[in-house]
Amino acid sequence: MAAYFAMLKPGDKVMGLNLSHGGHLTHGSSVNFSGKTYHFIAYNVDAKTHRLNFDEIEKMAKEEKPALIVCGYTAYPRQVDFKRFREIADASGAKLMVDMAHIAGLIAGGAHPQPFPHADIVTSTTHKTLRGPRGAVILCKTEYAVPIDKAVFPGMQGGPLDHAISAKAVCFKEAMTPEFSAYAHKIVENARALGDSLSAEGLTLVSGGTDTHLLLVDLTGLKITGKEAQLALDEANITVNKNTIPYDTQSPFITSGIRLGTPALTTRGMGKSEMKEIGSMIARICRAPADKELQQKIKAEVLAMTNKFPLYPELG
Ligand SMILES: *Cc1c(COP(=O)(O)O)cnc(C)c1O
Repeated sequence: MAAYFAMLKPGDKVMGLNLSHGGHLTHGSSVNFSGKTYHFIAYNVDAKTHRLNFDEIEKMAKEEKPALIVCGYTAYPRQVDFKRFREIADASGAKLMVDMAHIAGLIAGGAHPQPFPHADIVTSTTHKTLRGPRGAVILCKTEYAVPIDKAVFPGMQGGPLDHAISAKAVCFKEAMTPEFSAYAHKIVENARALGDSLSAEGLTLVSGGTDTHLLLVDLTGLKITGKEAQLALDEANITVNKNTIPYDTQSPFITSGIRLGTPALTTRGMGKSEMKEIGSMIARICRAPADKELQQKIKAEVLAMTNKFPLYPELG
């Protein structure tokens, strides 16, 4: 909100990725303040590859001449080419904002390319792959520093939450360590291993795989919805979320996909062999979502696995 307030006037034109193709509510959804305040135009992922099609995005930007282009996503499993986005922004006279909320930890750890020097402004949460407290941070080129500070205060925020600020400092310090970099790389390795396992089980991955911490599974081939899969997996203590897939024919409340991520399991110490097993568990449940006995059997496997990776071993 502060980034938009600093860079835009109400009614300005902005380009963001279609919400059902992996974009975020704050990237122009009509039920969100962003879509109500600014004139958002959505770009899509390619219908065949399910990846960003930069030639299409460039064509749209040159025609629409937005004030701002937003990239960085919520459910897009591939790396984002920030340099290409900069070229498109320059060619269309737009500013470039990168919302790295999901991938900030991968970027900090060197497991995903950097948004700077390409972006004018970078927003992030601190509670996703950055593994810190619930909150946010804005990075920007010097010229935007004063307008952003003003947008935050007096623009919208009251007194600061000092405990959250100190927790962010701890989070950033951790993210600077070699151990965090190793963690970031391990997250991606584990996501690839989980993807390989799901593919070997015959499940379809949106875009064919992942470069990041997350995977989107297209369930249309199994003839179950994302909602059914989520509920069936819950029964076995496997937590995923239903998620639209690009060009989904189901509503966002039902969906044709599920979204999976490896950061939490990687923090617990799990590796490739566990990912292989988890992929198999997910596939078995999705192939027989009504089989209650199978769900209980797999729940026992899940408990046996998680017991091997206790959350707070130091607490005994
Ligand atoms: C998660 C996310 C946000 C912020 O959402 P919160 O509700 O604060 O977690 C913003 N942008 C993107 C792309 C996100 O994925």
